[in-house]
Amino acid sequence: MPVILVTNDDGVSSSGIHVLADALKALGEVTVVTPTQEASAIGHALTLRRPLRLESHDTGVWTVDGTPTDCVNLGVDVVLKRKPDLVVSGINKGWNLGDDVTYSGTVAGAMEGALLGIPAIAVSLRRTPEFDFSYAAEAAVTVARAALAHRWRARTFLNINVNTGLPKGFRVTTQARRNHVTQIDSRVDPRGQAYYWIEEALDEWHPDGGRSDYEAVMEGFVSVTPLQADLTDFGAIEGLERLLKTAP
Ligand code: MN
Repeated sequence: MPVILVTNDDGVSSSGIHVLADALKALGEVTVVTPTQEASAIGHALTLRRPLRLESHDTGVWTVDGTPTDCVNLGVDVVLKRKPDLVVSGINKGWNLGDDVTYSGTVAGAMEGALLGIPAIAVSLRRTPEFDFSYAAEAAVTVARAALAHRWRARTFLNINVNTGLPKGFRVTTQARRNHVTQIDSRVDPRGQAYYWIEEALDEWHPDGGRSDYEAVMEGFVSVTPLQADLTDFGAIEGLERLLKTAP
């Protein structure tokens, strides 16, 4: 029976991870290792300057007072004491599309799995006042089943985004680009000192001809983007080499 490690960045109190874990039990033996507190937008952070505590809860559920990346490492080394066959991170409350994947703790949980050589999937659902995780869980199981049956390229992991309602099907996508707009809410505290809230990014996306994750979810498809941790811009290498040769 395949061994599946499940994590998230919304923490143990989010129902998204428990719906996902229950759905994945159809495919294998599921262990949940999740942050004690919400760690959204924590990216790929690894906790190195303080001790981490691992706590056991219900059967197969563990928490770590750290990040999703910490959870994957403790999950593999301490809880499972072996590499699982699959790492699945989510279901996140809110999409992780395009440029936003660089901030995402959900996506980083899957990325850490991929860096450890384990097939990995991140799953995120559109933010709405009430969350119905059922279609996203179904989509995750379909992709997870495929991942367990056919290994894809080493170090590639999959980023799944799901809209509300019954999906029209799956679409393999690229990352959309957001037109970055920084919006910071400045306020003054009761002692006259300024403080700031960084506003969540606005939904302003570059249209890119129908191939992007953003367009897929907006059209009602489950978006599946193959991602890799290697950020090298291979197309820029030759031009950069020429530029540095002619540099004084
Ligand atoms: Mn989150």
